[in-house]
Amino acid sequence: MVGRSWSLACNACGKCCNSPPALALREWFVHRSVFIGSIAIERVARRRVGERLIAGGVERVLDAQDIADQDALNDALFHRAGAREAGWISVTLQGYDYPSAGRCPALAQDGRCTLHEAGKPARCAAVPLDPLVPDGWQPVALGARREGVRALGADCIRDALEPGALSLIDGDRVIDTTALERERAALMFERKLWRDAVAAALAASPGALAALKPGGRLTIAPVPALLTVARLSPACRAAAIDVIGQQRTLIDAHVDAALKRRRPDERAFTQELRGFAQAHERALDELSRPCAPTPSSDPNFVREAEIWLGSH
Ligand code: SF4
Ligand code: SF4
Repeated sequence: MVGRSWSLACNACGKCCNSPPALALREWFVHRSVFIGSIAIERVARRRVGERLIAGGVERVLDAQDIADQDALNDALFHRAGAREAGWISVTLQGYDYPSAGRCPALAQDGRCTLHEAGKPARCAAVPLDPLVPDGWQPVALGARREGVRALGADCIRDALEPGALSLIDGDRVIDTTALERERAALMFERKLWRDAVAAALAASPGALAALKPGGRLTIAPVPALLTVARLSPACRAAAIDVIGQQRTLIDAHVDAALKRRRPDERAFTQELRGFAQAHERALDELSRPCAPTPSSDPNFVREAEIWLGSH
């Protein structure tokens, strides 16, 4: 019997930091010399009443309230893919690296996060909870994550409150929703900042999404996000140009290291990174030409965006 309370006994082993995290654009700007940025595009399927979720020994049969909660959250965070039943398209910023690295580039040798002091990404701060599912479903998210970390050799997620462990859920109630809310608020603000514009551009060229199956993912260079914010103001443009410069250096270093490793399984990733580098090059060329700010830009929003991106 799985308990209705959960806790986390984290010893900072770093085992769950096995790939670069999802990032807000703001976080990527701050950590531009650590993470190669990409845009991840995914189809999010709509759940149905009566659907049974089972993960890590936790089971939940979805009722009408569960579906209403998830629909409302998805509507806030993602973009409708068409008719209600077609689900959503998720457009988010994602750190990128060769899978063979097997670790987040911010992970220190001792298993600690080197960004802890500067501020780790909100998605990481929410771990093991999942900001993308309603609070009422967090036990299922924890079940899935427990299964994942056990496969990595960690036994830190417990289905009971334990002395010395961080209490997460007590009697089905998430004790502290701050980290969940911070990540959701960042995703919502960045809808206005760049995600709506990129999603609209994707929707206008349906061929781009045709091959994307539910649960599947497309990865593209982050250039559309950079160009969108660069059009807001000269300060945003200068920040975007600086990020592009840092990214070209970082990508070159990763590609050089991969060429020395000579792994056939890395060729496709090298190809993709070279595509990113070329896209950054074209973006830099575009940004080096004079351009007027987006005419519809509300000055208050522009100021908010500059503060958000740390470019004010
Ligand atoms: S695997 Fe568990 S114990 Fe290790 S860093 Fe992640 S949350 Fe902490
Ligand atoms: S940023 Fe820090 S907490 Fe997040 S995956 Fe990387 S090492 Fe782990």
